[in-house]
Order: sequence, then structure tokens, then C-alpha cells
Amino acid sequence: MSGTTVRLGAKGSKLAHKGRPWFYADDLADRLPETPGLARVLDDKGRDLGLGVVSPHSRLALRLAGGWPGDAVPAPEEFFDSRLAAALARRSHLLGPAEGSRIVHGEADALPGLVVDRYADVVVVQVGSAGLEPFTAELVAALDAKLAPRMVLARHDTAVRRLEKLPEEIRLLSGRRVEEVEIEEGGLRHPVRPWTGHKTGFYLDQRPARAFVGRHARGRRVLDVFSYQGGFALSALHGGAASALAIDQSADALAAAAAAAERNGLVGLETCGDNAFTKLRDLRRAGEQFDLVVVDPPAFAKNRRELQGALRGYRDLNRLALRLLGPGGLLVTCSCSHHMSPVRFEETLRHAAAELPFRTLLRARIGAGEDHPVWLALPESEYLKVLVAERGD
Ligand code: SAH
Repeated sequence: MSGTTVRLGAKGSKLAHKGRPWFYADDLADRLPETPGLARVLDDKGRDLGLGVVSPHSRLALRLAGGWPGDAVPAPEEFFDSRLAAALARRSHLLGPAEGSRIVHGEADALPGLVVDRYADVVVVQVGSAGLEPFTAELVAALDAKLAPRMVLARHDTAVRRLEKLPEEIRLLSGRRVEEVEIEEGGLRHPVRPWTGHKTGFYLDQRPARAFVGRHARGRRVLDVFSYQGGFALSALHGGAASALAIDQSADALAAAAAAAERNGLVGLETCGDNAFTKLRDLRRAGEQFDLVVVDPPAFAKNRRELQGALRGYRDLNRLALRLLGPGGLLVTCSCSHHMSPVRFEETLRHAAAELPFRTLLRARIGAGEDHPVWLALPESEYLKVLVAERGD
């Protein structure tokens, strides 16, 4: 057998067989290897559990990384080649030349902590585990070989890198610096700024919700709250909305939304650079009503301790939004907080709807797109919740 082998202890093995994919140093039978990298993982009886990624200085010391034939540890080139091929095959219908899609979604693609997003011919990576960091060059070579992108950029400005004791940086990994790239989605062109935009440049995960809004927008007065660059507002106008008001506290984001509307030949976009809570109360006081309201705030609960406060925040915000709906109006409401379970979020919406002078119907549950698969062993990776509520009678 070649390569590193790590063996789980009795307790760790039991958990592994119940489906747990992450382990601490004391779940192992032996000492953790001192160098980060790939390892073969065995249970306490010597049975194979496939590959694992070892991060010696992280609390998540060992993360399972899928099966691999034989009993050896592959070279990183071979590992990335095979894992990327599978990840791309899973998304082959989303890889049109001008499309944007996530092509690696961490554990679900058996590449722990790794995110890769493709925006037309630009690729952005986020390495989020110390165990894969030493092989960044091999990863980039595999991406270059498979996709021949104009640029591979590291958006390593993520908090998770701190937990892994990795440097936070934004760095060109390959190709030439590309400031902005345009992607096409549902007949619309969206600008993506990989170096400075949120996340890796765009909210790829909201594709299904944007499509829903596009399909339900015809003739409606639309309010896009926490709009960023107006992804929802633009989809609504493209779908025939009568008007769209985008609210965001970032003037830059709203300027990008206005530019994108013009680029797409859309009229009817209004922007408002205000605090969302203040503006919603002002609209309510002015007696304004909308037929479709989208609420897509940043995560209110960044950790478990913040959950109680966050629940109140989501409830109050959703109550405000529901009160702005005209008869038959739709609310598309989102939470991207990992610490808020889908059940909890639905309960919060129920609390928001209680005591309103109309019934509220749950019309649809939408999550992240299928390019963000959820490994069932890691239910918390289903981080994006999107519910559609209707103002009934
Ligand atoms: N709906 C967007 C993504 C929203 S991200 C899309 O689909 O692309 C969250 C946005 O909320 C950010 O653009 C941020 O600037 C904005 N934001 C955060 N707090 C805010 C507040 N209190 N009032 C208004 N905007 C806020």
C-alpha cells in the first residue's frame, strides 16, 4: 500500500458507519499525520472508508473525500483529474460557453472545503481546507487542462480559511487578470466582477429563484429588497414586470444593477440606496403595495449563538414584507444562514404571518440550484432556503 493511512478509533468508526463525514483528532486510533494531504481512511476493523483529507491544524482534522479503487492514495494530479471529471459530468447541461455555474461544491463533489465557480471562460476557486491547500498548483493545472479558462482566480478572502489557519488573500493563480465577465442566464446578461464581487462574484445559488421570479413577474409591481446588483429585479423586468424597485445599502451594487438593466434593454428599474428596514417601514407608512416582493438578506446568524436574535430579525423582516403585499401578492423570502434549518425558517415565516389580517399560503419551496448538491451526510450544507408565500383571502 502506498501513501498515508489513518485509522479511526472505535467511537469514530461507529460514527463513520452512521454516516458522519467529519472527524476530530481524537476520533482517530493513532496520532494525526503531521503533514496536510490525502490519506486512506480505515475503520477500527481495518475496513476501507475511502479517501480522507487531513488538516493537522484544523478542528476538522479529517474529512472523508469519497471512495477510490484499490487501497492506495492517488497522486494529487490523478485525484483532481478524476474528481473534476465527475463534478463536470454532473453539470454537463450547465456548461454552455456563456453560462455561469458552480462546478465544485465541496464535500458533495468529494473535494472537502473546495469551491470552484465558472463564469463563462473565467474560473474562481476557494480552497477551504488545509489538507488540499498544498495541491493548489495541481488543482489549477487540472482546471486549465479541462476548461482552458482566461483566468483562474483565488478568492481566498473567506472566514473559513482562518479556521484552517490558511492565509486570506485574493490572488491570480493562472492566466490574465479579468476585471469583469458577463454571464448569460435565462436570456439575461449579468455582469460578474470576480475580484471584488460578493462571494466569488455572483449569487449563482439563486438561479432557480430568479427563474421563478421571472416566470411570475408579468404585469406585477416588484420590490427587490437586499438586491445587490439586482439579480431578481432584472429577472422580473425581463419576465414582464410593470416596475421593479431595488433596495440595497450599497451604492456600487445599485449602480451595477442600473448598468445591467440598460445593457439588457430593460426599462422600469428604480433603485433606492437605503437601509432595508427603514425603507420598508417608510413604504408601509406611505401605504405602498407590491405584487411581488423578494427578500434576500445577508445571513443574520453567523454562528449558533446568534440564532435567537436572528430568528426575531427574520420574523420582523418577513412580517414587514408580507404587510406590503397587495391582494394575491407573492413574497419570495430567503435565508442563507447555515444555522437556520429549513424547518426553522418555515416556522419563522409562520410566526411572521400570524396575526396578519389575511391568510398566508405557502406556494413553493425553492433551494439552491442543482449545481449546489447537498451530500445527505451533511444536511447543514443545505444552507439556502427560499420560500414563496402568497397573500390569500
Ligand atoms: N439578492 C441578491 C443578493 C443579496 S446579498 C442577489 O440575488 O444577487 C445581500 C445584500 O444586502 C448585499 O448587497 C448588501 O449590500 C445588502 N445589505 C445588507 N444589509 C443591508 C441593510 N440593512 N439594508 C439594505 N441592504 C443591506
